Amino acid sequence: MTEARSHVFWTDRFYDYDFGPHHPFTERSRGLAARLLEAQVAEAPPGAVGWTRTVKVADRPTLETFHRADYLEFVESASGLAKQVALDQGDTPSFPGCYEAAARIVEGAVDALEFTLEHHIPAFHPGGGLHHAHPNRASGFCIFNDVAIAVARAVQKGLRVSYLDIDAHHGDGVMYGFYDSGRVLDIDFHQDGRTLFPGTGFPYEVGRGDGAGLKANLPFPPGAGDEALLPMFRRVVPTLLRQFRPDVIVLQHGVDGHIGDEIAHLQYSPRAYAEVDREVLALAKELTGGRLLVTGGGGYRAESVSRVLARTGLVLAGLPIPADHDPLPAPWRKEFATAFGHEAPATWGDRHAPSPSPWTEADEKALLGQLETKLGEKLPEP
Ligand SMILES: [Zn+2]
Repeated sequence: MTEARSHVFWTDRFYDYDFGPHHPFTERSRGLAARLLEAQVAEAPPGAVGWTRTVKVADRPTLETFHRADYLEFVESASGLAKQVALDQGDTPSFPGCYEAAARIVEGAVDALEFTLEHHIPAFHPGGGLHHAHPNRASGFCIFNDVAIAVARAVQKGLRVSYLDIDAHHGDGVMYGFYDSGRVLDIDFHQDGRTLFPGTGFPYEVGRGDGAGLKANLPFPPGAGDEALLPMFRRVVPTLLRQFRPDVIVLQHGVDGHIGDEIAHLQYSPRAYAEVDREVLALAKELTGGRLLVTGGGGYRAESVSRVLARTGLVLAGLPIPADHDPLPAPWRKEFATAFGHEAPATWGDRHAPSPSPWTEADEKALLGQLETKLGEKLPEP
């Protein structure tokens, strides 16, 4: 058995993070991703992927590295109630045991971070990426901000972190949480905040104090897809990361930018996600000695979330990606159908074809120009 090339953190206890059957967020689709990755890895040479299947509940000092004590007490008391109460002004209710469930997802991110720092291979936490929670409040289905707490842990160790976020929504909890930090380079690709929650993440938001010039926001209009994401990613990410020289890269890998998502309106393809994964993996090898944490995130169409995150797990392990026409395993399809009450997709390929995109070369030039001006950096063609 050779040393694994990547490591996955998944426990079915993540299913405890459950807002009920009528809520759009479910860990079921992340669990189905882990299951599909597992089935696919079973076909590969042994030892390609390591697994951690037990994750404890994060302790109070860990949560307090990002969250305020009074907020933690509020969640803990709501968690003990039989009835649901609102944890924010919007769509994030409490449920019995929500404190422990959310704190377990935090521990998954922290364990995965520690793992990649120690072993220098990618760590994958598909159940995490709850990037909207703020120090003093829940937001956007996120009770505790696992990914911000992982970033805080790295910063506490004196490390420099590059946080990348490809979720369709702006990663506001993380960006504002480290807005002043000179140790966190934050690059966030998302649907324009004028058209989608949480309404933030504009190119003029570039950080403050020690963090000035270290927060880059790339908003795309509804309908934008691979033709926006991939060129901008290649133009901005390698340049800024090579200048910043991170010790570790954290990628929030939300899948709600996928074509056909139930909440957001971007049109990324599975191919684009795999391209981003390969680029980030290559940058980790080049810049951080392989230290890379990848989390899940948003994603409200189980067919996309499960297959895309499973594919991400394969890319991180350096395993081949199945072809679009390759069939999905029958036992997995059965589990999918049971979880969601509708038939699973039959193959790895997605049936959605993109509609015409509003994104033009002029838009690309304009956004690059804004970023160069606001960040005070040149972003040359690769
Ligand atoms: Zn999202």
